[in-house]
Amino acid sequence: MKLSDLRTTLQEIHVSPVKTLGQNFLHDQNLARWIVDQAKITSDDYVVEIGPGLGALTKLALERGARVFAIEKDTRLANFLRERLAHPQLEVLNTDALDFDAHVLFSQRAVKLLANLPYNISSQLLLKFLKYPSPISLWLLMLQKEMALRLSALPSTRNYGALTLHVQLHHRVEYLRAIPANVFFPRPDVDSALVRIMPRDARELPERDDELLMKLIRCGFSQRRKQLQKLLRAYVADWRDVSSNLGFNPKARAEELSLVQWIGLANYIAPAIRPETHAIKEEQFPVVDKMDRVLRYAGRSEVHGDNLYHRAVHIFIFNEAADLYLQQRSRWKDRYPLLWDSSAAGHVSDAENYDEAAKRELEEELGINVPLEKLLKISASPQTDREFIWLYRGQLHGNIKPNRSELESGAFVATATVDGWAAKRPEDFAPGFLQCWQAYRRR
Ligand code: SAM
Repeated sequence: MKLSDLRTTLQEIHVSPVKTLGQNFLHDQNLARWIVDQAKITSDDYVVEIGPGLGALTKLALERGARVFAIEKDTRLANFLRERLAHPQLEVLNTDALDFDAHVLFSQRAVKLLANLPYNISSQLLLKFLKYPSPISLWLLMLQKEMALRLSALPSTRNYGALTLHVQLHHRVEYLRAIPANVFFPRPDVDSALVRIMPRDARELPERDDELLMKLIRCGFSQRRKQLQKLLRAYVADWRDVSSNLGFNPKARAEELSLVQWIGLANYIAPAIRPETHAIKEEQFPVVDKMDRVLRYAGRSEVHGDNLYHRAVHIFIFNEAADLYLQQRSRWKDRYPLLWDSSAAGHVSDAENYDEAAKRELEEELGINVPLEKLLKISASPQTDREFIWLYRGQLHGNIKPNRSELESGAFVATATVDGWAAKRPEDFAPGFLQCWQAYRRR
């Protein structure tokens, strides 16, 4: 929309831009086109737009054949878009984006997020929509320039901080360009810039305890000018040893450490134990017949290599909000690394029955011991990798203490979200989980 048309439209719909809603509308059409190009939108995409305003970017995303889901807080603008931009591929939701449950987006396949964000809530919105795991495959964000520089900053620069590392831990951030104030009406008081954010492949960075890592980072940046050896005294006994091992100056401040060095520091404090180092001895499993009767015992490699019938347990743990804990399998697992799975799961070994295995797996993987309800049995099939599976359910009242050598990460997810996610992106899950979830939901 040209500036003159934009002014006319605002007059027609009796809207004078509201500063607290960050209503600075883009009127440079060439720039709008360039911006939308950076999201590489195709007709397969489901574009979520936060704050569509008068539709400068919305229209262009629709022209590229995408479905667009626009979240606009201002009712007058939401109504304007519904009426003037009425399009079969457009859905407008009149709500505050901060109240929107981003998990429902798991039930879409290719989600991209486009936003010329209201700057006063941009960090809240960012943290909400960047929460891991996220269904979004690309974020294209117009931000206050200072925020864009913080997100994309490199070590040893003024803008590099805890927010940079928090976002870069799971994402790659590209600073695309500064956007001058004169392309907006009214002109904003601050400079803007465009960033593109994409999820990282989990294998790009070493495994680590994210909770500990972020605790160290926050502590390290709590007093930027202070040396880390003083700030992190409680965590590290021999600072010279750690700094020479990780290749940084012993007098370094927080901003001098790269993300990989921060991860190295967290792993120095709490070393990750790879499963191979303690589970290298061949586990013995009962080999069973088609009726799940024990025939003999055999090693794990023989059972899997020869596709023999065997036994497994899966456990679903729900929290007080009735959300299911999904675990992301360790990157070191020989089968289905990094896929999402039941809260806890594992094989029944030679010395135990199903109930005992369920109790053991829960303790080993999640560090909890809660009463388990035995729910249902799934017959062995190619979809279960020839496992007979007993499914259990437990209710959690305290906290989970995930075992980092067993799982990569985990998250509580609403059951409706699991339904949508499993239906639309089954490739994100280990097949045994899909069998269990379907059986559980059919009950
Ligand atoms: N995308 C349009 C453009 O580029 O011209 C408008 C961008 S304007 C900077 C920000 C938009 O976000 C406004 O339309 C405003 O009403 C809307 N908005 C502000 N706060 C919001 C919130 N919490 N949730 C959803 N939309 C919001």
